[in-house]
Amino acid sequence: MIKPRKLIWQIFPASVLTILLAVTAVSWYGAGAVQKFHLKQTEKDLEARAILLKTRAVDYIAESRFDELRTYCVVAGRESGTRITIIQADGKVLADSNEDPEVMDNHRMRIEIDTAFWGEVGVSRRFSRTLGENLLYVALPVRIGESGMVGGSVLPVSHVLRTSISVASLDRTLENIKRRIAWVAMAVVLFAGLVTLLISKNISKPLELMTKSADQFARGDFSQRRLPKPKLVASSEIVTLADSMDRMAGLLDEKIQAIVTHRNQLETVFSSMVEAVIAIDTEERVISTNDAAAELFNIKKATAPGKLVQQIVRNIKLQEKISHTLSTKETVESEILLHENQGDRFLQTHVVSLTNGVGEHVGVLVVMNDVTKLRRLENVRRDFVANVSHELRTPITSIRGYVETLLDGALDIREDAVRFLEIVLRQSQRLTTIIDDLLSLSRIEEEARQGQIVLERDKLLPVIVSVVETCVMQARQRDVELDYNCPEDLSVQMNPTLLEQALVNLMVNGITYTRPGGRVSIDVVEDFGEEADKVAITVRDNGCGIAKEHLPRLFERFYRSDKARSRALGGTGLGLAIVKHIAQAHNGKVEVQSLEGEGSEFTLLINT
Ligand code: ADP
Repeated sequence: MIKPRKLIWQIFPASVLTILLAVTAVSWYGAGAVQKFHLKQTEKDLEARAILLKTRAVDYIAESRFDELRTYCVVAGRESGTRITIIQADGKVLADSNEDPEVMDNHRMRIEIDTAFWGEVGVSRRFSRTLGENLLYVALPVRIGESGMVGGSVLPVSHVLRTSISVASLDRTLENIKRRIAWVAMAVVLFAGLVTLLISKNISKPLELMTKSADQFARGDFSQRRLPKPKLVASSEIVTLADSMDRMAGLLDEKIQAIVTHRNQLETVFSSMVEAVIAIDTEERVISTNDAAAELFNIKKATAPGKLVQQIVRNIKLQEKISHTLSTKETVESEILLHENQGDRFLQTHVVSLTNGVGEHVGVLVVMNDVTKLRRLENVRRDFVANVSHELRTPITSIRGYVETLLDGALDIREDAVRFLEIVLRQSQRLTTIIDDLLSLSRIEEEARQGQIVLERDKLLPVIVSVVETCVMQARQRDVELDYNCPEDLSVQMNPTLLEQALVNLMVNGITYTRPGGRVSIDVVEDFGEEADKVAITVRDNGCGIAKEHLPRLFERFYRSDKARSRALGGTGLGLAIVKHIAQAHNGKVEVQSLEGEGSEFTLLINT
């Protein structure tokens, strides 16, 4: 590709060439005209000299004073710097200012002389063999008999008077004139060239500066907004153009700033959204994702663009929704279920058509809200309601059954009546226990949510002693040995009533699920493990233990590892749920370790 030339190299050489041609043409024509004029003038001059000489020459010829004629020619010739030759009708040279006529050729056939013999003024410019140089000749017809007229008729030409000068001197003069013209022409070309150069620079310089500024604008740099305005030398068009560009740069700068601010705001909103957002083009390739999407699908935000959406989320239903919106531009809302290793995930998903600045459909925007926790909570609540109903219905059905049996006649059989009424009493006690536990749980939950649980620093030993004293009767009945171990001065941040309730629950469980002759202990350890500010209260038993598969769900409400046994032993399945909530209310947690057949260990971790 031909590289475009600079403006100055387009204007300057063309202008200089044009000026050069014009000056050369004018000089050429001028020099020619001067030469012509000079020759004509010289001819006229020679003719005038010949006319002046003619009168005396005619006299000498008429009186046949040829010697005097020759002398006259020599003297006049020397004084006027002219060669003078007189030729008679037969071509013989009669006199010559520069040569001896006797040695000269016959001149009859010289062109100027021949013309003169025909009665005209003959002019010729040629090489003189006599003098060996170029001469300009003017030959004048001479008629002996003076006025040239004889009784009204013209006298015959008897002689010719020829004047001539060397062309060399003429040429020298002309050469001189031409040289001067050439010098002037060169000076004119030089001057014109200089002026053209200045003008070209004045045009191109501001344009070059503006081009540089425009380049900077194109790169987004508006720092040098003031465009060059060489007002004194630049043309009004260039100044106007510079002004317009300046204004345009200002407007562009403002617009770009506004766009950047707007984009930054959008990006901040986009990245701080909790919803996962993925923008997808019409080919189902990712345009961009936000931080939440990167986290949700465990991908790198920077490498996601360009990937197919299937490479990020593998879900048929989602793909169907995306394809639907891509083809119909309709907004679709649905809940997508993702099966993952860590468990199922529920994503509330909106697929919206994406348009560009001119309203063209360029893809879709997928907005996903992870509602897994919400769904799980809903499930827990649903299960809880079902569990509560079930737990309450069981004793109520039992009571109703026995009361109906009593009314149907069993009341009359005293032994049966007493047994049935004892069952009714037990079931109603069970109902009371379940309701008490439920109330206790919801009260702790509610108070914890409202921040009403007051924690105060107090000694732990009295609480432990009280727990043991509460359980000692029950332990004695089941022939289980109790033991405790707690530093005397240790104090912790606690709510003593709630902490006691939690530890009683754990201890009662330990006693309940331990065979007679077993042992349940409470051990308090300060600066537990790596957590220096924690206190670990461990309730340990050597009872039946819990199978491994039950451990993760053990603290859920109504969850029992061994349903029949728990019910038989009067358990409600709420005790450990209450312990968990009490631990949370103390900004702590509860952990379990157990081996089936060997015993269990429940540890309550709370702050000192
Ligand atoms: P429950 O009132 O049935 O004891 P919990 O919530 O206190 O309810 O306990 C839940 C379940 O955990 C119990 O049904 C029992 O199967 C199991 N469990 C709790 N503590 C122990 C323990 N110390 N030893 C063995 N199993 C236990």
